Amino acid sequence: MAKVYYENDVNPDAIRGEKIAVIGYGNQGHAHAQNLKDSGLDVIVGLRRDDPGIETAKSDGLNVLPIEEASEQADMIMILIPDDRQPGVYDEFIKPGLKEGNALLFAHGFNIHYNQIVPPDYIDVMMIAPKGPGVIVRESYKEGNGVPALVAVEQDSTGRALDRALAYAWGIGATRAGVIQTTFKEETETDLFGEQVVLCGGTTELIKAAFETLVEAGYQPEVAYFECLHELKLIVDLIQSEGISGMRARISDTAEYGDMTRGKRIITSATRQEMKRILDEIQTGAFATEWILENKANRASFETMRKKEAAHPIEEVGKRLRSMMKWL
Ligand code: NAD
Ligand code: MG
Repeated sequence: MAKVYYENDVNPDAIRGEKIAVIGYGNQGHAHAQNLKDSGLDVIVGLRRDDPGIETAKSDGLNVLPIEEASEQADMIMILIPDDRQPGVYDEFIKPGLKEGNALLFAHGFNIHYNQIVPPDYIDVMMIAPKGPGVIVRESYKEGNGVPALVAVEQDSTGRALDRALAYAWGIGATRAGVIQTTFKEETETDLFGEQVVLCGGTTELIKAAFETLVEAGYQPEVAYFECLHELKLIVDLIQSEGISGMRARISDTAEYGDMTRGKRIITSATRQEMKRILDEIQTGAFATEWILENKANRASFETMRKKEAAHPIEEVGKRLRSMMKWL
């Protein structure tokens, strides 16, 4: 069982008097910066000089500085810009200002785990990864609640890295819900596996294969779209809030019988073997290397695949049908 930290396990004084720089004001950044400020902590926002987020952050009452100045002034630096932009921004704007005892924080482990950012040994390196989008991190905080988060310490130079990370988690409201201890390795590898096998890769291929099967058999694409894509949300929402059994308790007995007798014929032992291979590519770093090289090659095959995927017939049908559903 994982170790979980709550409000009572945290001493916010661990970081009182420390200046926190939140780099980026996007999905996570706006939520972290505002929650930390409302928790009475000393926060500044670091943004590029031409960043469209500057005005938003200022109108939210935050102090905004260029990334290198915010990093230079701060004791703790949380990097909340897109993962593939982080190494460049770190090298150019953050690294030069790092001083002994500073802390570098992340909300995802990729760049540290796969050595795309290699911090000096005289600073702390931690992760606070909220398990929800920024809007929920912000909204639930305002309601007096919080979003659970993962915490990890990669490098403990001060001997206080975990205390500081937990105090940061308290500042964004995460300890109200519970903060689960993990490692950069575990968070990074499970995150990649989840998105490749289930959330993104597995789900999109399942939808397309089922849609194609129906359309090739002569069924109308509109009807196939509703059955294989549109209604997925209903089921996923039920699974998220009630669990798999709770979802099954809320569908028809016919659907439940079909689920339990047919599902195992879709996810076969061959599928499970492939899952193991995908996990192996993540663990050995083969996937990370592939993706890093793809970026260095200006994403040539990435862009080609994007175009090809966007031209799939399900997209054209979907566009038409979604325009009939104004509430979406
Ligand atoms: P995002 O895409 O919303 O970040 C946008 C911000 O990054 C903007 O403020 C922009 O100013 C800045 N930015 C973009 N390109 C930049 C560049 N080249 N140089 C400097 N600044 C640049 O990012 P996000 O989704 O908030 O993700 C931030 C981190 O949080 C990532 O490590 C991500 O893995 C992690 N994370 C995200 C979520 C989520 O729900 N989105 C959840 C948990 C963890
Ligand atoms: Mg994830």
